[in-house]
Amino acid sequence: MHFFYILISMRNFARSNYLALLKEIFLNPGIMRYEMSERLDMSSATVTKYVEMMIRDGIIREADNHKGRKVALTLTKDWYAALGVDIGGYQTRIGMFYADGSFTKLDEVRTPGDPRELMPLIQKYERNADTVGIAVTAVVDAAEQRIFIFANQRTWDGFSFRTAGISKPVFLTTSGNAAAGYEKRFGTLKPYENCMHVMIGTGIQAGLFINNTLVEGANHAAGEFGHVFSTAEAGPCTCGKVGCLENIATISMVQRRLEKQMRDGNLRGTLAMLCGNDPSKMTIDILKRSIAENDPQVMADFKRVTEAIAAALSGIVNVLNPEAVSFGGRMIDVYPGLVNDLQQAVRLTVLESNSKHLTIAAGKEPLLAACIGAALIPMEHRINTFGGTT
Ligand SMILES: [Zn+2]
Repeated sequence: MHFFYILISMRNFARSNYLALLKEIFLNPGIMRYEMSERLDMSSATVTKYVEMMIRDGIIREADNHKGRKVALTLTKDWYAALGVDIGGYQTRIGMFYADGSFTKLDEVRTPGDPRELMPLIQKYERNADTVGIAVTAVVDAAEQRIFIFANQRTWDGFSFRTAGISKPVFLTTSGNAAAGYEKRFGTLKPYENCMHVMIGTGIQAGLFINNTLVEGANHAAGEFGHVFSTAEAGPCTCGKVGCLENIATISMVQRRLEKQMRDGNLRGTLAMLCGNDPSKMTIDILKRSIAENDPQVMADFKRVTEAIAAALSGIVNVLNPEAVSFGGRMIDVYPGLVNDLQQAVRLTVLESNSKHLTIAAGKEPLLAACIGAALIPMEHRINTFGGTT
């Protein structure tokens, strides 16, 4: 009995070393053996044993490092491929994420009002994938693969991916958590233990890490930053409450306000000129140009956005004292200056002790983080549960 127990724990020990190395190589493509030995506090003999085993099995390969020596380790690209689908309130993005950390964007379409219309596109691309990761800017039930409330596409409420005709295994999450997962592992938030990523598209979602662990909440509904109260000025929200951040600080809300000002004949700057005073002519590109030319009325609207975000952020930063908050989504693509504006604005809304060392930064992939992050979930699941050959 005793002997048997020792045998089992040795097996577990070997397996945990193997998985730790596999995960380290996945998260740090190009890492070298001695670096893993140091980071994981593992003898070089142990590292060599498992690395040789993985190379033999075709799971990892050695590539040239910067000095041209074949010592940099990466997972083999085709070992595993996960399709990432990011379903936003306005746009849906699809791409393929490979085990070596590379990503290929495959498609981008307008999110249809009827969820069934999107399924043929997912079915078309899932053929080349081992699994499918889906992120939705909605409150979701990950275990049941179902959408609870999709504030910007209420026709999707209650939709189940389980019966949607997708043949590969599906992993469902929120766009906020998916984007945060990508930024934490490979992007801007990598150096921080306590941090948050905020995605501002048509809706607003966040993903929060405390001591390197994603906070999911009792009901997997943590991170609904868009429905944090910001200012009464924001008015009634699609969720049924009043004053939600999402109702004032998104690009669609900025456009809506500027269009109204233009209709009322109250716009006189670059934006009005570029649109020929016709609100229907306002595009994202025109909005970007009017920002580049510092149209004072456009900039005044972004100031409202900044103030609303700073107000909503104050509660979270005061309570949790994170080291960093990064921002992504269409908002950062259109107005990258938001990051600097916020750095100033939070000094007025957040305790000095909590804002002094707070880093506010743009995400590494403002438009694709949620799509890559959606695929990362099944990819990590595969690595964490891999049987190996120990
Ligand atoms: Zn709301």
